[in-house]
Amino acid sequence: MPTTFSELGLSAEVLESINALGYEEPSPIQALAIPPMMAGRDVVAQAQTGTGKTAAFAIPIIERINTRRAGVQAIVVLPTRELAVQVAEAVHALGHGRGITVLPIYGGQPYDRQLRALKAGVHVVVGTPGRIMDHVRRETLRLDTTSMVVLDEADEMLDMGFLEDIEFILDKVPAERQIGLFSATIPARIEALARRYLREPERIMIAQETRTAPQTQQFWYETPYRSKLDVLARILDFEQPPSAIIFCRTKREVDTLAEALQSRGYSTAAIHGDISQAQRELQLRAFRDNRAEILVATDVAARGLDIPDVSHVINYDIPDDADAYVHRIGRTGRMGAKGEAITLVTPRETRLLHSIEQQTRKKMKQLKLPTQADIAARRREAFVSALRETIESGAGEPFGRLLEGLAQEHEPLAIARAALYLAATGGGSGRGDGSFVGGEGEPAEPEPDSAVEAGMVRLFIDAGRKQGVRPQDLVEAFATQAGVAPSTVGTIDLYDSFAFVDMRTAGAKKVIEQGVVRLHGGEAHVKKAVPRTGAGAGPRRKK
Ligand code: ADP
Ligand code: MG
Repeated sequence: MPTTFSELGLSAEVLESINALGYEEPSPIQALAIPPMMAGRDVVAQAQTGTGKTAAFAIPIIERINTRRAGVQAIVVLPTRELAVQVAEAVHALGHGRGITVLPIYGGQPYDRQLRALKAGVHVVVGTPGRIMDHVRRETLRLDTTSMVVLDEADEMLDMGFLEDIEFILDKVPAERQIGLFSATIPARIEALARRYLREPERIMIAQETRTAPQTQQFWYETPYRSKLDVLARILDFEQPPSAIIFCRTKREVDTLAEALQSRGYSTAAIHGDISQAQRELQLRAFRDNRAEILVATDVAARGLDIPDVSHVINYDIPDDADAYVHRIGRTGRMGAKGEAITLVTPRETRLLHSIEQQTRKKMKQLKLPTQADIAARRREAFVSALRETIESGAGEPFGRLLEGLAQEHEPLAIARAALYLAATGGGSGRGDGSFVGGEGEPAEPEPDSAVEAGMVRLFIDAGRKQGVRPQDLVEAFATQAGVAPSTVGTIDLYDSFAFVDMRTAGAKKVIEQGVVRLHGGEAHVKKAVPRTGAGAGPRRKK
């Protein structure tokens, strides 16, 4: 296996770009996928998230493009607009030295910008299946010069119902082409797709990493057995983990803990050996889609599953040995991300803890339980940073008119003070727990998770009654503009200048990907509604 980028036979320009990105050596998937891709072979590559798959396909694409030829020579098809932007940036960073041009296209972005760029000519198009298909249909994107196709996060795309769009695109690409299929998991449906479209693909599988990541911080708390649940709750309140896996020793304990956390207001998914395969998939999907912030699991159930990187691994029960420990905490801190591993240890288990420390040659730091004042301070911090983010993102826009009205009667600072007070105390809407206000006293019990049904996603649309929007207009717009069946639309809450719509996950993804709908001649933006997790909730995990 090549251990340096220069052994891969790359051009000086690309080597320089790699150097500028600070990559010292190829990751395993890069070392194994780049040579066959450079040789023009089809590739099916499986490696977990965060292992460097993007550069593994971007580098060979960049090297194989003939910059003297016109027309789109490579397309990368992937599931979301975020990923489109991210991958296009990576292609640019690695390829601009060679003069490679790249264009991200995705739903929701105005067509005219994309059209101008497509007309001017680019070497690589990175986009979501729906939008690529649209352009191909309109003949604003011609694939007759395309000789390389990469399907990135193929498993996600199929889960989102993009199979037909992908087939449409592949059928439009000339027969003499190279296909790379990159995915964290290779379920049977992807095998079937590969059998249909790929020619004698080189198969590459990278086994799960088991080393403990150096950037994962490891902590432990001593707690009597009977106080474990309270201690865990306090840690969660303090850490506000955007995403966490909690490991228990037994199936019973997984059930009990998941229920206890649910009733304390954490949206929780649970997996263990007695839960059916289908049910496990559902639970896992809820966790991947951020509908559940916590996953409670036994070791056995979690083994071999593609669970996304999490911010926190919590050992509610200390594992039996160092191997299990390393395996568990490998779920966080992947490839450069920061992670925390926290272990609860009863007095009788301290010897086991030290034996694990010896075997991993890493000392865990003992922490004191955060006090209520610590928790309140942390929430205040999170609240202020959420506030800053909201100001910067302009998400408060729908309230602009309301504010203008109020400003006729009151000082802006007085309005802001009152709004903060209401947000903190849950006044007005009855939400939020206000525990960051005083810094003293027990935090109130957070409300149970918002009423979005399982399998449904709540969408936020920035148009409402004032724009003449009625529920039936929304249903119709989703059906005609995003191809979402009306039967998959649930509750619609219409307000003056915005609306919430509950929708089945598959449909919601389409709409979110599209990003805008036309309503009464105007454009309205659609995005996933921010879950109601209390005023102090920190930023959510980014996928
Ligand atoms: P994947 O697609 O497998 O989830 P990415 O391609 O998004 O992973 O890469 C994850 C992170 O690792 C990115 O921040 C990327 O810049 C970084 N990375 C990729 N290759 C290397 C490398 N050879 N050395 C160091 N960091 C890398
Ligand atoms: Mg990727």
